[in-house]
Amino acid sequence: MRYISTRDNIAPLSAAEAINLGMVPAGGLFVPESIPHIAPWDSSQTTYHETARRILASLLTEFSDTELTTCIDKAYNHTTFDIASVVDLVPLGSSRFVMELWHGPTAAFKDVALQIMPSFMGLVKKKLEERSHTVILVATSGDTGKAALEGFRDREGISIVVFYPADGVSKVQELQMTTTGGANTHVVAVKGNFDDCQTGVKALFGDSALSKRIRAKGFAFSSANSINWGRLCPQIVYYYHAYQRLLAEGKVRSGDPVDFCVPTGNFGNILAGYYARRMGLPVRKFICASNRNRILTDFFAEGTYDRNREFHRTISPAMDILISSNLERFLFEVTGHDADRVRQWYGALAETGKFTIEPDIRDKINEIVDAVWVDESQVLTTIGTTFRQNGYVVDPHTAVGVAAAHAASDGDVPLVIDSTASPYKFSGSVLQGIEGTTPSDEFACVERLQELSGTEVHRAVKGLRERPVRHRRCIEPHQMRQTVEAILGIDEIP
Ligand SMILES: *Cc1c(COP(=O)(O)O)cnc(C)c1O
Repeated sequence: MRYISTRDNIAPLSAAEAINLGMVPAGGLFVPESIPHIAPWDSSQTTYHETARRILASLLTEFSDTELTTCIDKAYNHTTFDIASVVDLVPLGSSRFVMELWHGPTAAFKDVALQIMPSFMGLVKKKLEERSHTVILVATSGDTGKAALEGFRDREGISIVVFYPADGVSKVQELQMTTTGGANTHVVAVKGNFDDCQTGVKALFGDSALSKRIRAKGFAFSSANSINWGRLCPQIVYYYHAYQRLLAEGKVRSGDPVDFCVPTGNFGNILAGYYARRMGLPVRKFICASNRNRILTDFFAEGTYDRNREFHRTISPAMDILISSNLERFLFEVTGHDADRVRQWYGALAETGKFTIEPDIRDKINEIVDAVWVDESQVLTTIGTTFRQNGYVVDPHTAVGVAAAHAASDGDVPLVIDSTASPYKFSGSVLQGIEGTTPSDEFACVERLQELSGTEVHRAVKGLRERPVRHRRCIEPHQMRQTVEAILGIDEIP
């Protein structure tokens, strides 16, 4: 399987090379040249691991069975995930299911990908005989950072630098990151929002003079953001897993369609679902759920992607994004690999902050995507009603999904809502939704939420208060390059 650029600006590469590079150096994202077909299979015994082997083997063809099995077993086991099935599927009323994707070490769905991606990286470096020290640069809206830090800490030959928006993450998210151990981990607060962090990281990747200089010192940049194919492809697995579970439980018969509702930010999670559909999973449609930062909802309705708008800070911060990077892959796929058009659109986006797709493409997208946005009060109301009516606690991101599902689902086919974070990661907002008030101390919120729900506190949050803060850097957005240079010890100050 070869990987090509959404902007047709690099020769096709192997999966290993695509994963090693992260994104196309000249701009653009790697996608598989062709999409393998895997029909859902008949088996009530299939483990998550077996599903992962089937899906990943079809996409990462140069990895041997043994290599893949090693990566999968190392990523998904009783020390990394607190349930044997890795992800769980919980009924929420009739014909609705919540797919709990947050049973990994950091309580967010990103663990599913970021527990396995570092193994891919290690393997890829061996295959490519890449001897330079890999420097993973991450921009995070809160959850990727910690998940990547946990995935990459103490991995040989790799360092990781995480940039997060100084006032854009929750107290728990911030502490999770700044208390991270490991000799190869670096965490930096940026006085700006997530887009500033992401733009800054993209600029570092695009800075060819910098690349040359760090190469000369034995370093090479790579990415753990969902722009890296190695991060995206493990997410395809759980869409299949959910369907296999529904099959095994007799909730669907082979070939019956289902809908998925995905709380969306960078468009990575929902894109993985789209690839599952293209690979043959019977998905009727996706509900693309957004918070007040409704840029995707407007785009799918009007055909214009316009980032010239106010940025809102919400209680679902991991979805506070105005540039959904993976949308580029989606547009490349729905246009039948029209790199010329993608180049034009993303050129316009870089220059004017917006682009418009033709109505026929928009219509084609709307056949498979329903986009819905949910305002803040609705998110809180949904947390409260879901608790009272179903006895189930959802975090604010998942609540966006639940509310969007109420608005967009006709109930004709089973619907799976992706639950992207444990409620304990956002205890304050969750309590606000359930009780209307909230203790000012985040950890008092955690205790109260446990009392109310009777569920166990996620181990990612337990004991966090006592852990020492190890990372205290806080910088302006324009200082990102010099910060990386300082961390690597290659700053030019004489
Ligand atoms: C990252 C994240 C999202 C958004 O996922 P994308 O793949 O960026 O669309 C939603 N919810 C939570 C809790 C997240 O951490």
